[in-house]
This record gives sequence, C-alpha cells and structure tokens, in this order.
Amino acid sequence: MKLTPHVYVVGGGRFGFGISGALDCHVYLLDGGSELALVDPGLGLGRDFDTILDNIRADGLDPRRIRKLILTHYHCDHVGAAAEAAARLDVEVITSAFSAPVIRTGDEHAVSLDVAKQAGFYPADFTLPPCRVDRELVEGEVVTVGDLALTAYETPGHSDGHLSFHFAGSDRTYLLGADLVFWGGKILLQTIHDCRIDAYATSVFKVEKLAFDALLPGHLQISLSGGHDHVKQAANSFRQLGVPPNLL
Ligand SMILES: [Zn+2]
Repeated sequence: MKLTPHVYVVGGGRFGFGISGALDCHVYLLDGGSELALVDPGLGLGRDFDTILDNIRADGLDPRRIRKLILTHYHCDHVGAAAEAAARLDVEVITSAFSAPVIRTGDEHAVSLDVAKQAGFYPADFTLPPCRVDRELVEGEVVTVGDLALTAYETPGHSDGHLSFHFAGSDRTYLLGADLVFWGGKILLQTIHDCRIDAYATSVFKVEKLAFDALLPGHLQISLSGGHDHVKQAANSFRQLGVPPNLL
C-alpha cells in the first residue's frame, strides 16, 4: 500500500491494516529510488512473510531490489521474521549495537518473549529464530537507502536498544518512530525488564527537537502530516512529570 513517494506499508496485523499476520507490526518498505529497504518484517508465523512479499509485488515493486533490512528493536512482533527475510532477500541486516547480540542469539528473556508468551501475546511454542546482523548502529549514524539518508537516534524506554530514524524525502520529512510514540501522544509502557520511564522521557525529548511532518509508528494510526504534534503531546506530559497515556 503506497503512502507517499517513499513509503509503503506492506504488512501489518490487527493493530494495523490487517494485510499480513495478525500479530505483525506495521511493516514498512522505503523506496529510495535506486534501492529499497524493508523495516521490521513482522512476527513471521507460518507463511506470513510470503504474504508480505506478495503485498510488495502487488504494489508493483520487486522484492529483489530490497538491499537493507532495518530492525528498530528486538520485540518479536517486529523481528520474528528477520531471519527468514535475511535468508530470502539480498540484504544487509541493520540494527542498533545494543540489539545486535540479542537478535543474533534470539535470547527469549532479553526480548521478553518468555513473559509475552505467559501473557498470551504469542503462541506458546513460538521461538525467536536467531538472525545475523551485518551492521550495528549507534547514535547519529546514517543509513542510506538510494536517495534517502536515514539518521539513527537511540530511543530507549519502550525497550533497550530501540532506534528511531529521521529522514527527508522529496515530499516531506519523516520520523520512523516505531514503538516510541503513537497517535495522540500515546506511548507503550509494559511491565517488562527493560521498559524504563526515565529513558522514555529522554528519548521523547530527543526526537521532539527534530522537525518532521510524517510520524511512522509501529502500530495503529499513521500521520503523514502533523506527526510532530503527537510527539509534542507526549513530551508535554513528561514535562509535567506525568506519564503520557499508554496503549495498554
Ligand atoms: Zn515493541
């Protein structure tokens, strides 16, 4: 589904567009002209990744042009399909330096899969397939996707190792915020070991300083204009020493 000249949504489940596996996050495809990048390929149950590839073809794009697989953070609804995507596509696998060792091992506890299964979020027999990582990002590093230059920002709080990306397209500016901030200034706190309210506030203040039109979250409503307003709402709550409204 084409959103803008540079951004397609090619997967997403019941908290998205319902076009791939029910538990999948928004799966974004970025078009930089000479090459494509896939961002967070979803949970990857059964043939769900085939559905994502079918969606890409239905949008008139060739998955063989995907050169980068960008992983924002290690939660399973975002990276469960990463190993399959890395095996089937000709891609460089890119994530944060913090997330890389966790994604390479598929550590159930580190990614909170153990407690998420107990809570009934995922099938009891689901395991996270380990995935290679080719490039480890730290704050300020740039990932190029054709004509697009994505600057990485370390934005922990929802989880350790979480990255957001800022980039300018020919049409507008973007914050790929994943699970940092959602429509209406909501955030996503969970009772997991690496969800940290103080880090969350610092991360929101950090991206509030950036200028952007579109906010591309990991779930729910996508804003193609006025995206910064949602981040500002969350930041205002934190400035009042409060906690922004939570998705859960
Ligand atoms: Zn998450």
